[in-house]
Amino acid sequence: MQTLTLNNNIEMPILGFGVYQITDLEECEQSVLTALEAGYRLIDTASAYQNEKAVGDAIRKSGIPREEIFITTKLWIQDTGYEKTFQAFEKSLNNLQTDYLDLYLIHQPMGDIFGSWRAMQELNQKKKIRAIGVSNFQPDRLMDLIVNSGFAPAVNQIEVNPFHQQIDTQEFLEDNNVQVQSWASFAEGRNDIFHNELLISIGEKYGKSVAQVILRWLIQRDVIVIPKSVTPERIIENFDVFDFELSASDMMAIMKLDTRDSQFFNHNNPDMVKSLSSYKF
Ligand code: NAP
Repeated sequence: MQTLTLNNNIEMPILGFGVYQITDLEECEQSVLTALEAGYRLIDTASAYQNEKAVGDAIRKSGIPREEIFITTKLWIQDTGYEKTFQAFEKSLNNLQTDYLDLYLIHQPMGDIFGSWRAMQELNQKKKIRAIGVSNFQPDRLMDLIVNSGFAPAVNQIEVNPFHQQIDTQEFLEDNNVQVQSWASFAEGRNDIFHNELLISIGEKYGKSVAQVILRWLIQRDVIVIPKSVTPERIIENFDVFDFELSASDMMAIMKLDTRDSQFFNHNNPDMVKSLSSYKF
C-alpha cells in the first residue's frame, strides 16, 4: 500500500475505507470485513457515526494484526474540552476494542477545541495516539490553532472532490506541513458525478470507472482518500486504482469541473454551526 509521511514521520495509507452513514451495524461490520479482505488497511470512522463498535468487531474478526491497520476516529463537538476529550477518547477506544489510535481528529472547528487539543497532545506524547489532526478546518481556523497552540495538526480532513477541488487550500495546508485528506471524494454521488461525461470519457481511455478516475486523480495530487461503499463489488473496485496513471492533460482536464464551492454546506454558516453543535452522540 502506498503511504504518505505525516509531519511527525508516521506513515499513513493513501487509500482507506470510510464508514459514514453505514448505520446498520451488521452491514458496517460486513463492509469493513470486505474492505480488509480486499486489502484496505485504513479505516475512517467517528464517534458521531455511531458505528465504532462494528468497526472494532470487524477488525477483531478479520484476524489481521492490529498494528497493520491504521484506525482513524473523530471527537464530536459536544465532547470537546480538556476533561471531556479524555472521556470521549476512552469511549472510542472501548468501542474500537483497541488500546491506541493511529489518528484522532477534532471533527468540527467548533466547541472548546483548544482544551481538546491540549488533551490530544498529551495522549500523543503518551503514545496513546500516533497522530492528531482536525477536520473541516478552513485556513483561518487552522492558522488560529497552529499559532495559538504552537502544535500543527498532522492532517486536515476536508471535502475534496471534482466539484470542490480545494486547490488553494491544499497549497496552504502543504505550506504549513499539514496533510490534506478528502471526504466525499465522490461528492456522495451528488451532481450526477458517476454519469459525468468528462470523467466517463477519461475512464474509457484507461478501462477504468468514474470512481476509479476520481480516486486516481486525488491520489496523484497526494490527497488521502477514504471512499465509502456498502457494495462489495464497489469496495473492491475502489481499491483497484494502483495499476494506471492519469496523464498530465487528463489531470488538467478534470480541473475544469471545479465549482470552488461545497456540494454540501458551508461550515461558516451560523445556522449550520448552531445545528451541528446541537447534536449529541
Ligand atoms: P463518498 O465516498 O463520496 O460517496 C459514497 C457514495 O458513493 C455511496 O452512495 C456509495 O454507494 C457510492 N459509491 C461508492 N463507490 C462507488 C462506485 N465505485 N461506483 C458507484 N457508486 C459508488 O461519501 P462519504 O461517505 O460522505 O465520504 C467518504 C468518507 O469520508 C466517509 O465514509 C467518512 O469516513 C468521511 N467523511 C468525513 C466527513 C467529515 O466531516 N470529516 C464528512 C463526510 C464524510 P454504496 O454505499 O451504496 O455502494
